[in-house]
Amino acid sequence: MFFIFRRRRRKKKALTAEQAAEVERLRAQAKAALPPRLAELAALHGFTYNKVRIKHNSSNWGSCSELGNINLNLNLMRLPEQLRDYVMLHELCHLRYMNHGPEFHALLESVCPGHRNLARELKGYRLI
Ligand SMILES: [Zn+2]
Repeated sequence: MFFIFRRRRRKKKALTAEQAAEVERLRAQAKAALPPRLAELAALHGFTYNKVRIKHNSSNWGSCSELGNINLNLNLMRLPEQLRDYVMLHELCHLRYMNHGPEFHALLESVCPGHRNLARELKGYRLI
């Protein structure tokens, strides 16, 4: 009971019609652009994932599950390409390390040089 209460999601703020249309436009773009790019980055750096899904949420740019499934936020389409790649490489590195420890950061730095600066830059963008 306690956990159910604690983990209950905060009510989502309703989008305006204009924002909803923007979200659908981004979703279509994301579905066309992100899976092929993720596949390309994975092949380039020797990562193997299970499935990729395009999501819309206001809590993360991407996520990676223990089963090797990667979720990418459609908001990635609003980012410069370099930051978009950074998020995808970040999630791919979680296939090997499900944490943000030193080994994770070393791996990420090897596939995405300057990743800490990119992470800082990403903080300047908000999810819609
Ligand atoms: Zn992470």
